[in-house]
Amino acid sequence: MSEQNYIGGEWTGADGGATYEKASPWRPSETVGAFAASTEADVDAAVTAAAAAFPAWAKLPLAARGGYLTAAAAALERRSDEIATDMSREMGKPLRESRGETLRAAQILRYAASEAFRPVGEHFEQSLTGRQVSTRRRPLGVVGLITPWNFPIAIPVWKLAPALVYGNTVVLKLAYEAPQTGLHVAEAFAEAGLPAGVLNVLTGRGSTAGAALVRDPRVRAISFTGSVPTGHGVRDEATRAGKRVQLELGGHNPLIVTADADLARAAEAAYAGAFWSAGQKCTATRRIYVQDGAYDAFREAFLTRIERGRVGDPLDAETEVGPIVNQSQFDEVVQAIDRGRDEGGEVTAGGERAHEEALLLPPTVFEGVADDAFLSCEEVFGPVTSLYRFGDLDEALARANAVPFGLSASIFTSSLADATRFQNEAQAGLLHVNSQTAGAEIHVPFGGIKQSGFGPHEQGRSAIEFYTEVVTIYVDP
Ligand code: NAD
Repeated sequence: MSEQNYIGGEWTGADGGATYEKASPWRPSETVGAFAASTEADVDAAVTAAAAAFPAWAKLPLAARGGYLTAAAAALERRSDEIATDMSREMGKPLRESRGETLRAAQILRYAASEAFRPVGEHFEQSLTGRQVSTRRRPLGVVGLITPWNFPIAIPVWKLAPALVYGNTVVLKLAYEAPQTGLHVAEAFAEAGLPAGVLNVLTGRGSTAGAALVRDPRVRAISFTGSVPTGHGVRDEATRAGKRVQLELGGHNPLIVTADADLARAAEAAYAGAFWSAGQKCTATRRIYVQDGAYDAFREAFLTRIERGRVGDPLDAETEVGPIVNQSQFDEVVQAIDRGRDEGGEVTAGGERAHEEALLLPPTVFEGVADDAFLSCEEVFGPVTSLYRFGDLDEALARANAVPFGLSASIFTSSLADATRFQNEAQAGLLHVNSQTAGAEIHVPFGGIKQSGFGPHEQGRSAIEFYTEVVTIYVDP
């Protein structure tokens, strides 16, 4: 059934029966499956089902809705090996990270279910009479979720879990490049006995199915994670139609290493941050600023770690760096490396294709890249990072902050004063002191500032802001 959409509690092919094939990033001549190429009519059917399911779903107690999430979490855990394998096969994430992400998705569902036991309003007194006036958070209705391929289970789940628990019904458009993983989530909810129409999951192109979801007037809100240009287009269209919009977009995340830092830890964090998942994370480390006195030692530790790194088949449990998701992304990363060289950067490690067939690039490190060069300013979604020298923290912070993005930033230091300045002045929504730029807890807010985000942050207690609206209720006897 993998090639079908999940609409109104049924597995169904795209209107007209069209499918598309997803190629393997490890063996691009092989396909991993055929999936529904959803049309506007499929989106229409999904929104109709979600709208019909909304009144009964919204009436259920929060804890009853949470019960379905807990049951779906158990279903995901039961099939976690299969999901992780499918994820690695279809989008190339190394198995050890795919496993972690799958289990994290189950944890997100359990966390969201526990929100049923927290306040959904506040109680006040009317000023003259002391009578009741209170606020209550209510669901919005049908919400549309649009997700990228690089976290193909965590991101769909961290959007749909709060959406559902607060009483909304959902139409989820999965990423074109990672359909199979997301369809497992629909299967888990089907197994959990979720009422028909509460969650509807579609595969297919963003420009058809995604755009139709954004346009549909019955959809009250759109939560989107993906690239900056697509996200801005989605925001403009949706806000024109009066919808609520949340965007999580790209990043250009700096890591600062001061001279007194633990360089072994910093080198390990730089490796993981820049190269795990082949750098295909919005929070990946793109720029590494190292203070003069530590530059050579850090550089050596970093290059040694790269030599020890395991690059290869994503289904090998030892692999740390797998392939790029598809041919066009691969070509873009190769072009960015060429441009980095043309603009005067020097390749210190990697830089050349690492496998005849697989879309594999090794960890690639640049030095001597100008602050205004392409690599210093634009997100390159691959295993590419640059090393820069700095003198003092003023300089490091100014250069780290000199991009329009503001998703994640990290400092390695043993100075409390430097760590404190970083916490006050680094321009990013996620700040790490002595840990890598990637990585996020499920029970705290996640999101970027500047061009990296728009609207309330996701996850933790912030999720309630987006998926509910507040009404104020005056009660007089
Ligand atoms: P993308 O923008 O190409 O696609 C994201 C989603 O939007 C996909 O489901 C796609 O099908 C859909 N889409 C495409 N065109 C659309 C349209 N016209 N209308 C509606 N939907 C449309 O991004 P991607 O390549 O899948 O993901 C990589 C990008 O996502 C990177 O830039 C990365 O930094 C970003 N990202 C951000 C976060 C974050 O939380 N900040 C997390 C992961 C990825």
